[in-house]
Amino acid sequence: MGIEHIVYGPVPSRRLGYSLGINNIPPKKCSYSCVYCQVGNTLDMRVERANFYKAEDVAQVVKERVRQLEERGEPIDYLTFVPDGEPTLDTNLGREIGLLKPLGIKIAVITNASLIWCEDIRHELRKADLVSLKVDAVSREVWRKINRPQESLKLEAILEGMLKFASIFRGELVTETMLIQGVNDSSGEIEKIASFLAELRPNTAYLAVPTRPPAKKTVAAASEPVVNMAHQIFSQRLSSVEYLIGYEGNAFAFTGRVEDDLLSITSVHPMREEAVIALLRKAGRDWGVIEKLVREGSLIELAYQGRKFYMRKLPRDNRNSQTLEAGD
Ligand code: SF4
Repeated sequence: MGIEHIVYGPVPSRRLGYSLGINNIPPKKCSYSCVYCQVGNTLDMRVERANFYKAEDVAQVVKERVRQLEERGEPIDYLTFVPDGEPTLDTNLGREIGLLKPLGIKIAVITNASLIWCEDIRHELRKADLVSLKVDAVSREVWRKINRPQESLKLEAILEGMLKFASIFRGELVTETMLIQGVNDSSGEIEKIASFLAELRPNTAYLAVPTRPPAKKTVAAASEPVVNMAHQIFSQRLSSVEYLIGYEGNAFAFTGRVEDDLLSITSVHPMREEAVIALLRKAGRDWGVIEKLVREGSLIELAYQGRKFYMRKLPRDNRNSQTLEAGD
């Protein structure tokens, strides 16, 4: 079989616009076996890097697809390494990024960061324009429970590696924290993650919940009140915090239709009651709009520290949602 299948998309993503996915790892080789993994259980748990495909072949397949898309006038905003496994397990990752650079399209890598303690990998990742790091837990027992890491990995070294990377990386650094009910969604762990992220200083910290069926059937997304709490806690320490909850609308393009605008804003972050009132007033509408959306089950009202918030209801079984992520 050829390796044409390693390129897929472009997939529309709120984070990256039109993203052409590069699956540079054969299924499913990973250093983690996250309970929520949406590409199933890890088949080959490993931390050793390998030469899965020739870097020139990967670059060739991507270039060919880019050429076809350009011919059809289709836009591509990012070339994204987002495989069915961990992209940094590919020894050729740095070389592939180097070979793709001349295309003049931004390059993103979505990594679980488990190998970022290794200096070589930090230098390879540095060549990308955007790097997303997974930060689901900063306490060892919670990390073991949620990410089920390969046994030789050390959380302290990974966290230190992330900080070192942040200090040398000049591109866009983002983080992703998946919130799983009863695993990493206690206020204590969320506070600790927020403290670590405050030190890391990502451009944006994303809060996610699984939007497709996870590896372990018993795994459930954190509830809306908890997701809202996490947003409030993160926002106290970080300048930009957004949800990735499976709605890929453009949250910042106002349509003028107040229902649509409310739903797209609240799928990115919760809105305080005062902000909702202001938006309704601007649109010349009354509170009946909110009552209707709550009644229909698309909007949800929450209380946190004596204030009222509105957020988009989380999708419960959104098998068709198009998110950027393969495994992550
Ligand atoms: S979610 Fe990502 S890091 Fe976790 S097991 Fe799946 S592919 Fe690996």
